[in-house]
Amino acid sequence: PSTAAARLEASGVTVRFGGLVALEGVDITVPAGAMVGLVGPNGAGKSTLFAVLSGLLRPDAGRVRMGGEDVTRASAAARARRGLARTFQRPELFSGLTVREHVVLADRVRRRGGRILRDLVTGGGFRRPSAAEDGRVAAIIESLHLEELRDREVSGLSLGACRLVEVARALATGPDVLLLDEPASGLDGRETAELAATLTRVNAEHGVSLLLVEHDVELVLGMCETVNVLDFGTVLRTGPPEEIRSDPAVRAAYLGA
Ligand code: ADP
Ligand code: MG
Repeated sequence: PSTAAARLEASGVTVRFGGLVALEGVDITVPAGAMVGLVGPNGAGKSTLFAVLSGLLRPDAGRVRMGGEDVTRASAAARARRGLARTFQRPELFSGLTVREHVVLADRVRRRGGRILRDLVTGGGFRRPSAAEDGRVAAIIESLHLEELRDREVSGLSLGACRLVEVARALATGPDVLLLDEPASGLDGRETAELAATLTRVNAEHGVSLLLVEHDVELVLGMCETVNVLDFGTVLRTGPPEEIRSDPAVRAAYLGA
């Protein structure tokens, strides 16, 4: 029944790398407005599933749907235009640009698409942001509490701040669903707590559905309403954090208790 309403959904996804079955019959659903987690030990298939969802890898079997529409054969760019955004495990930022310029660029790509390139080659250069653009960009920077770092080049920022810049840039593209690839890796305890609070606020304020792929199980159990546990390429359990926490099979496979 949730099928039509789900912002993002995979069903029966199977991926083989030669003789290795990385994913087998995986089902995962990200409903509108939800925060969903995906955890699992190293090699479980998390990154592979992420690649299938974002359109970088075609599955050998199974479907991917956005808002009920089949996008299994749609490119990563086509899925982005339909409202899917992602961040990378290692932030992929432009070292010479400021925080604000990253957000301006993403906002322009959303509004003007390929025309921003034409502006550059026809001598328009990096045009000054309009008042409307300024307003949209300021709102995103504020909502991520990045005001103090707004005019700093990202090359001088901490990893934690770079993760927030990635989220800001993703939000500026106006997504319905945001995929986060291990956003807490490399962060200390305080930065992780801040990131969790920020993502929770982004979900509430922007109505963006989040799929959080994380190695840090406690972070996911603390934030997400539904958690999927992947083990050896199959979904071992899907449920609310309290069920996942007390599930004997999950504990045996992953939590090491
Ligand atoms: P996770 O992200 O959960 O650590 P991955 O999705 O990266 O797991 O990997 C799942 C399995 O697929 C692992 O056994 C990994 O070695 C294998 N694998 C991943 N990508 C490739 C690839 N491009 N070619 C061959 N094997 C791969
Ligand atoms: Mg991985």
